[in-house]
Amino acid sequence: MRITEVKAIYPRYRVLPAAWRQHFWQIAVRIDTDAGVSGWGYGGGGVAAVDVVNLHLRELLVGRTLGSIEDIADLWDAQYQASLPYGRSGIAIMAISGVDLALWDVLGRAEGQRVCDLLGGQRRNTVRAYATGPDSSWYRDLGFDAHKSSQTRQASEEADTERILEWADAARQTLGDEALLMIDAYMSWTPEFALSLTRQLSQHNIYWFEDVLLPDDLDGLAALRPRIQPVLLAGGEHEFTARDFTHIARAHALDLWQPDITWCGGLTAALRIAELAQQYNVPLVPHRGGEIWGLHFLAAGYGEDLAEKVMGKRGAKRDELWFGEPASQDGCLILPEGPGFGVEINEELL
Ligand SMILES: [Mg+2]
Repeated sequence: MRITEVKAIYPRYRVLPAAWRQHFWQIAVRIDTDAGVSGWGYGGGGVAAVDVVNLHLRELLVGRTLGSIEDIADLWDAQYQASLPYGRSGIAIMAISGVDLALWDVLGRAEGQRVCDLLGGQRRNTVRAYATGPDSSWYRDLGFDAHKSSQTRQASEEADTERILEWADAARQTLGDEALLMIDAYMSWTPEFALSLTRQLSQHNIYWFEDVLLPDDLDGLAALRPRIQPVLLAGGEHEFTARDFTHIARAHALDLWQPDITWCGGLTAALRIAELAQQYNVPLVPHRGGEIWGLHFLAAGYGEDLAEKVMGKRGAKRDELWFGEPASQDGCLILPEGPGFGVEINEELL
């Protein structure tokens, strides 16, 4: 089949977090073909990425053949090279991610197969999920036994430390001794603060610290990494393509990689990153991997048996852009049936 149309849309979100997410949050990409099959993908980069797709990538893609995974890889390389002068990372790659996922969706729908089957078949019937957000008692009620909390530097080191220790006490008590507990610093800590917390949280058995320093500081991360053991140094949501992860690997900067499949270049890039992770023997737990785009990758046996579900607070309003995304059951996620990614877009938000 041939691609006949490519269109990116910035959804009319009703509930958006502040700052860059207002205008640069996730995009939807639709691809049509002459076989009458259409598919949807999910990318990042917001209104800027919409222009990248509609004003540039579209012209490369319309008329091209789509019949295999190899075709999708060729189209990825073509988009990467064409956008290279302004791309290589950031918004251009977030745009390519949306296109790439739409191509996988189309291919799956055309062949009557789930994306996970295109990846070689389902190897995990369930994927363990971890809940991200501030509401550990709700996560316990839902059956989660793994939880990550955002703990940025806010006030004084003392006040921040006290708050984080309080969270760790409460979360451990709520979720039990066996639960996985993780902390996301969102690039706000210093190495000294991370070391101090490592000592003070030694009884809490924290699994990983995430996004501790700026991702640009590979040397700083590499120096810190062995010093916070046994806590793992995690990161990678702000990295793009296998090229970035090659730099991380060579610097030995992170213990655990977290590419975002809707940002890092889509499934095609995630597969290349997974190959690299295997070469370097680094565990991979995709950022927001509990969303359908990462779930197929995990269900097919890539990465670790751990999927992030961004849960927020009990009762909080949220936009539902995709229908058919699985809710967690007893802290696990089960892949839906249905070809492609197996979800449908909520037209009301377009
Ligand atoms: Mg994070």
